[in-house]
Amino acid sequence: MECYRGKSVGKGIAIGKLFFYRKKERQAVRKESADTEGEIGRYRQARTKAVGELKALYEKALREVGEVGAAIFETHQMMLEDPDFVTAIENIIVSQKVNAEYAVTAAGKNFYQMFSDMEDEYFRERAADVGDVTDRLLDALEGKEEREQVPEEPVILAAEDLAPSETVQMDKGRLLAFVTELGSSNSHTAILARTMNIPAVSGIAVRPEWDGRTAVVDGYSGVLYIDPEQETLEKMQRRLEEDRRQVQLLASLKGRESVTKSGRKILLYANIGGVADVASALANDAEGIGLFRSEFLYLEKDDYPREEELFQAYKAVAEMMGGKRVIIRTLDIGADKQAGYFRIPREENPAMGLRAIRICLERPEVFKTQLRAVFRAGVYGNLAVMYPMITSVEEVRQVRKLADQVKAELSEEGIAFAHMEQGIMIETPAAALISDALAKEVDFFSIGTNDLTQYTLAIDRQNPALDKYYDPHHPAVLRLIGEVIQNGHREGCLVGICGELGADTSLTETFIRMGIDELSVSPSRILPVRQEILRTE
Ligand code: PEP
Ligand code: MG
Repeated sequence: MECYRGKSVGKGIAIGKLFFYRKKERQAVRKESADTEGEIGRYRQARTKAVGELKALYEKALREVGEVGAAIFETHQMMLEDPDFVTAIENIIVSQKVNAEYAVTAAGKNFYQMFSDMEDEYFRERAADVGDVTDRLLDALEGKEEREQVPEEPVILAAEDLAPSETVQMDKGRLLAFVTELGSSNSHTAILARTMNIPAVSGIAVRPEWDGRTAVVDGYSGVLYIDPEQETLEKMQRRLEEDRRQVQLLASLKGRESVTKSGRKILLYANIGGVADVASALANDAEGIGLFRSEFLYLEKDDYPREEELFQAYKAVAEMMGGKRVIIRTLDIGADKQAGYFRIPREENPAMGLRAIRICLERPEVFKTQLRAVFRAGVYGNLAVMYPMITSVEEVRQVRKLADQVKAELSEEGIAFAHMEQGIMIETPAAALISDALAKEVDFFSIGTNDLTQYTLAIDRQNPALDKYYDPHHPAVLRLIGEVIQNGHREGCLVGICGELGADTSLTETFIRMGIDELSVSPSRILPVRQEILRTE
């Protein structure tokens, strides 16, 4: 038996045959070509074909893994159509009088290098996307239709690296797990693996001679066993059986109320990134939406979305949830979520920079457009709105003043809108510490434990090197949560948790004892949390 330790990027156990996925070796041959117009024409045709493929992939991913996963393919389209990338390729064809394949490869390498050299982890990860887009263009130029397919029988896929488009194109029914050498837990492939709900381990130097050998992937502890010995195999089989039983048990919890043994009702909601995630929220029995991360609608665009577009998206979610509560979190852009057209100046510490409510207050026109869409959509369901990254009472007053202005304008224009509950996210230590004063200003609180942990412990949540210090169970974080709940309740505010910690079942009982009213978690975590609520006294 061989045993390799990597990093878990998707939980679960898989047992099966390994399939070594070979990347095509790409060496675009440099050919002189005096027919520059012809080569530019070939390149443009290939680009149109590639854009068409990406549109189809976007639709496929949207159906299979939801909006957050599908957004990758919109990013790829934007890269393909990026004026700097386009100009670079065409300039190489013209100035060097070369074939389109060579120009695409050369420009792709430059852009890959540029992203790889960036300081920011998120942008470094985008280098893989540049490689993926370049490959797609080359395939289109060479007239290739299909990428390598995995075998019919389900396999554990081992690859040096997987481009997000390769991951999504694979037939999910044939994949038991991923093992890759590259890719951090923030890479798109890792995100996709988690959304597809299959075990995945990265950081293992995979080898072609493993192809066809029996293996076990322990996605809980990030270990790969090759030719496992009987004892390990049996242990993992038992674990796999347990997981299957758990899935069945969870399915039996659908339709049940989320109440403790003593009869206390906990509101169990879902976090979503867009309209396409509503289906998975409902399939997992969400009682409402506790966090609609509205910024994804902005991140997918290359210009500010119009009021009508936003309105239609919010209205669709409100209607699909059929009267269940939907909390729209207003724009939380900045830090790790950047949209180029916002032109946010480069910052040394973007997580502590111009982000979320700060941008909205500095750019009231952008904010007011969103608020108009939110209040208008309120007519079509049970909507509430909440504001992210609050640090002071003054900010809340400014926000509420703008909200009042928006409503007055809508009223003057004779446009229908709803007065709805307005709440804030508690995700800075400042907000937690003055939650007694903030509670007097708003209708509800939702605790964003992801950022609250980051700011309380002074640990950058984006930096994988600091993973071991990022401890949301730290007593400082838990104490702040307890105080926020008490302060909120004193003023009649409902208090929820919408950060990842809300899904941590080892803390469900603690939160219930603290008096939490609502937990909002990713759709796949709803039933495990319900199970824990039902077990609590
Ligand atoms: C949080 O910070 O806990 C939160 C829910 O917001 P986001 O993860 O979108 O920053
Ligand atoms: Mg946050």
